[in-house]
Amino acid sequence: MLCAQAGRRGEGPGAISDEGIVVTARPVLWCAILALMLLLPSTAAAGGVLRVVGDNNYPPYLFLGPDGKPRGYVVDEWKLWEKKTGVHVELVATDWADAQQRLQSGQADVIDMIFRTPEREATYDFTEPFATVHVGVYVDAGIAGIDGPEALSGFNVGVERGDACVDRLHRAGVDSLHEYPGYADIIGAAQRLDIRIFCMDEMPAAYYLYRLQGDTRFVKAFDFYTDEFRRGVRKGDTRTLALVERGMAMITPAEREALRSKWMGQPLNFTPYMRLAGYALLVAVGLGLALLLWGLSLRRAVERRTRALEHLAHHDALTGLPNRRMLQFRLDQLTSQANASPLALLAVDLDNFKRVNESLGHAAGDVLLQQAAKRLGESVPEHDLIAHLGGDEFLVLLASNVTAMSVSAAAGRIQRALSEPYLLEGSEVMVGASIGVGLFPVDGRDGATLLRNANAALDRAKQSGPGDCRFYNRSLTDQASAWLQLGAKLRKAIRDEAFELHYQPQIDLRSGRVVAVEALLRWPGGDADAMPDQFIPYAEETGLIEPIGEWVLAQATRQLAGWLADGLPPIRMSVNLSPRQAVNAQLPLYLVRVLADSGLPPALLELEVAEGGLMEHGAATASLLQSLRRLGVDLCIDDFGTGYSSLAYLRRLPVQAIKLDPSFLAGLPDDHGSRAIVSAVIGMAHSLDMRVIAEGVEQAAQVECLDELGCDLVQGWLYARAMPADEFLAWYRAHPVCAVPAMAEQPLQGA
Ligand code: C2E
Ligand code: MG
Ligand code: MG
Repeated sequence: MLCAQAGRRGEGPGAISDEGIVVTARPVLWCAILALMLLLPSTAAAGGVLRVVGDNNYPPYLFLGPDGKPRGYVVDEWKLWEKKTGVHVELVATDWADAQQRLQSGQADVIDMIFRTPEREATYDFTEPFATVHVGVYVDAGIAGIDGPEALSGFNVGVERGDACVDRLHRAGVDSLHEYPGYADIIGAAQRLDIRIFCMDEMPAAYYLYRLQGDTRFVKAFDFYTDEFRRGVRKGDTRTLALVERGMAMITPAEREALRSKWMGQPLNFTPYMRLAGYALLVAVGLGLALLLWGLSLRRAVERRTRALEHLAHHDALTGLPNRRMLQFRLDQLTSQANASPLALLAVDLDNFKRVNESLGHAAGDVLLQQAAKRLGESVPEHDLIAHLGGDEFLVLLASNVTAMSVSAAAGRIQRALSEPYLLEGSEVMVGASIGVGLFPVDGRDGATLLRNANAALDRAKQSGPGDCRFYNRSLTDQASAWLQLGAKLRKAIRDEAFELHYQPQIDLRSGRVVAVEALLRWPGGDADAMPDQFIPYAEETGLIEPIGEWVLAQATRQLAGWLADGLPPIRMSVNLSPRQAVNAQLPLYLVRVLADSGLPPALLELEVAEGGLMEHGAATASLLQSLRRLGVDLCIDDFGTGYSSLAYLRRLPVQAIKLDPSFLAGLPDDHGSRAIVSAVIGMAHSLDMRVIAEGVEQAAQVECLDELGCDLVQGWLYARAMPADEFLAWYRAHPVCAVPAMAEQPLQGA
């Protein structure tokens, strides 16, 4: 205690020892004062001395400098403490065992940098901890396999005398300890190979190992323990303990931080760098993203450009159509296929185009070419490719359904489309089109030959006059020109409403009554083309069947409505639909209008669709039939038996009747096979609630047989041919009930 110390060390009144200890000549008086100080410790200590001891080889806390004087964190801290409390501090740095010895012997009041261990609890009181310290076990780099205290048994371990390591190692069962006065001595011993393992606090270990060049020879084997530095006083010296704590508490955090920076080095503050690094990373990521996006957009731009260049390389800049190179590529592709289908190459040249250029200028000529390109595409939607070779030359490649008739029809549509007036700079301009046709494989087995021959045909077409169409194969040219003429005549007939409908009765076999008529188209032109079998397929090919079909529907419904108005009993009107009509989505709308205009009940209208056409367009026709059926009209499959439709397929169609193809009747009544087929078809149709009509009935025996087999209706020359409306009316009135076929060996009507 301060009093005892003062008393013990007292040498004379007023004298101050070398170490700064206040000594008084009047011990009794001073003891009284000191007693007062003890009662009021803060004030009492203010004028006294505090003797502090600590380990002299514990850098950076306390160690001896080159001048032999103590230095380190602890020295500065106690100086601060002294300043704050006014109590003089006498700090002695000595070896650790001596330091402890000094405290216990009363030569010191406070021991610094001490761990609280169970063994020390008996002799010390401790302050609160002020630093955390890590302790490791270090080994010669040549020794491996020391991974914990238990691995130390059998080894000599160097320790500092009085160090907490001693107790810890003992507790861990390590008894072979070599004690040294200080850390530096341990390392010296290790370097001399006296010991090869030692226990040491990390900070001094790092310091001395480096300083004594042992940092490469020794490695830390394991972290032994972590403890906390405290200050200790002799057991029971609570006043000194309180004084120490109070003084330490007066040191501000800033002052302590300054001390730490001085002795432990300034912790590297990475925050700004981290932030900078963060920014840099963000910028880098941003840049990376930007680069990526730029790269992507560049790539896209390059791809776009490449596509554009590729498009340019294969297309004509003015019209946007494929150019000659593209055409040749496609031609080679199609003609080189093993099972190449027939192809038609139409070389198209505008007549009088030069004059447009000369009179209106090249800009107007370009506009005309652009419009012509557009019209070409619209007039042959079934084309495989349309190319512009430059100037007024175009090429149309047809690759599907290539027949002489379909090609003629396409050529006719092209000529018509291109000959429509063009509106250029406010005035109407007319040009025509000459066409030369080459057919693969007959006119050339490869693309180049085909192209050459189509152009040769075009030359001939141009020589023969504007607006001509020539096939390379001359006989086809004749056929084609006949068809082209037919097309022109048909268009005229449509304009002039030159068609007629004839009506052929259908008789109910059970009652013998006429229950329906089929409207059949007639073109009273007089020549060979005027037969339906001739002109209807061509009208279908060219699309002219659509306006014709509309006329037929309107006329037939009007006719029946008129007959009904004239008192005819209700009979059905059967109208043929062409395959093209049967996929035209506008048909139901048109039909609604026609029924409304005529006032005919829908149930009295039956639409016939040929089985072949039905199979050709499949789903599209089936869906249109559903729409038509919803209007209330009946549907019939014409020429049944020729189109290979399956019964399962028919079952899904909203059909009320089938019309047996005349070819089935040919073998009746004698041919068993025909009989079996007809019988089966009738049975099947009835099971599906469909009525069966036999058409092309020419013999009474056929009728008898059909009657036997359960057929519902018959139609044929045996009863009557198709007749003009008034003729039919007269016939009908004369035959309200037809004679039993067996009795009618001769046709009732021979029109
Ligand atoms: P279709 O619809 O199968 O018409 C039946 C054809 O058989 C008619 O020929 C008719 O005159 C003929 N015929 C009737 N009874 C007999 C007979 O006992 N013996 C023989 N040998 N023939 C008979 P048509 O009028 O020449 O019509 C031929 C085809 O033209 C029709 O076959 C039909 O597919 C088509 N057609 C006729 N009119 C139109 C129409 O208005 N529109 C459409 N799209 N096609 C029609
Ligand atoms: Mg028919
Ligand atoms: Mg038929």
